[in-house]
Amino acid sequence: MAAEKKLWYKQLHWQVACAMGLGTIAGLIGGETLAENIGWIGQLFIKLLKMIIVPLVLTSIVSGVASVGGAGLGRLFSKTLGYYMLTSFLAVIVGLMLTNLLQPGVGFELGGAGSEELPDLTVISSPVDLILDIVPENIVAASAETKMLSIIFFAILFGITLSGLPDKTRRPLQDFIGSAFETMMRMTSGIIHVVAPIGVFSLIVTLVGTTGLASFKSLGMYAAVLLIGLTIHIGVTMPLVLRLLGGINPLIHFKNMVDPMFMAFSTSSSGATLPVTIDAVENKVGVSNRVTSFVLPMGATVNMDGTALYECAGVLFVAQAMGVSMGIEQQILIVITALLASIGAAAVPSAGLVVIFIVLEAVNLTGPQVELIVGAMLAIDRPLDMYRTVINIFSDSCGAAIIARSEGETDVDTVAVVG
Ligand code: ASP
Repeated sequence: MAAEKKLWYKQLHWQVACAMGLGTIAGLIGGETLAENIGWIGQLFIKLLKMIIVPLVLTSIVSGVASVGGAGLGRLFSKTLGYYMLTSFLAVIVGLMLTNLLQPGVGFELGGAGSEELPDLTVISSPVDLILDIVPENIVAASAETKMLSIIFFAILFGITLSGLPDKTRRPLQDFIGSAFETMMRMTSGIIHVVAPIGVFSLIVTLVGTTGLASFKSLGMYAAVLLIGLTIHIGVTMPLVLRLLGGINPLIHFKNMVDPMFMAFSTSSSGATLPVTIDAVENKVGVSNRVTSFVLPMGATVNMDGTALYECAGVLFVAQAMGVSMGIEQQILIVITALLASIGAAAVPSAGLVVIFIVLEAVNLTGPQVELIVGAMLAIDRPLDMYRTVINIFSDSCGAAIIARSEGETDVDTVAVVG
């Protein structure tokens, strides 16, 4: 894949970076009034991205799975799940160790952080419920509600069945879905290149204009532990995983993933970022559609390393803040439920904060005081959510690159593609 040069201001990530800088300044100056006036542009941007998710994921998985078929699919499936579990587990362990070591919750006071209302998202309360929740009763209703795990489950089954049909019946439908997928990809690129910079500007103005920068102070130690943990994961663990499992130069992978990382940072949503992630992993990292269509959509919902780390560190923080000491058994329980909670978390902003109740309940941390602390955590959640979303999508892209290499794709991450 040849590296082509584009003037810097024509490159999407520079446009988005400038939009973020200008958005911060404009948000500080214009405050809530400006946020109220231009907030709709950010909402429009998120709506456009959400609009393409269901058809993109459906066509992407069906065409990908149908082209893999049979034995190849089983192998790809086990590699993908193995990778998801490994990296999420490594992330949780980093969160566990750091929170035990730095004890951010000890001596914590609610102070001026205040609390806010929790968003009203669905919470999956047990592993059995999680499985029952994945299988949809009605695929049209599941699509209308953007229930990603159900859509993915249906699409994989549909793709497997399609791949087993005789050639004459399979070909027309496979070609049709393949063309629909190409169309969705083209639509995605168009939306991203036209709307992303102005959309991101508006999102940042809204954030800074309404919350300001002061609200980030009182939970400093808690935020610091999360930032350190997430940085260790993306700066040490993932580069090692890339090198050891894929023989990939982490620096090249970082460079190829700049656009989706900016996008994840500004939208706080792996789901909304998914179209950009697919675009970069296919066109820059150089992974085939056969692998991306399998690893990325499922990864956006299931593989959330940043969220897993956060669940674990967050619950230990609450325990420390309440003066409850957690023994080994409880810490193991936290590790397991943090992994499950990260799988159950939707790929949308603040989802991680909502599913934290699964982990809290597992260790019996309940009651109004807990809710008050979680409410205060919500007040500073947005910047943390932005960062953990970057980690979430970065782990997906690393998985796609490593699995593609293991499938014999030698052209992956050989060069950093600019523009
Ligand atoms: N916002 C995250 C994501 O979409 C999920 C979370 O809240 O941790 O990946």
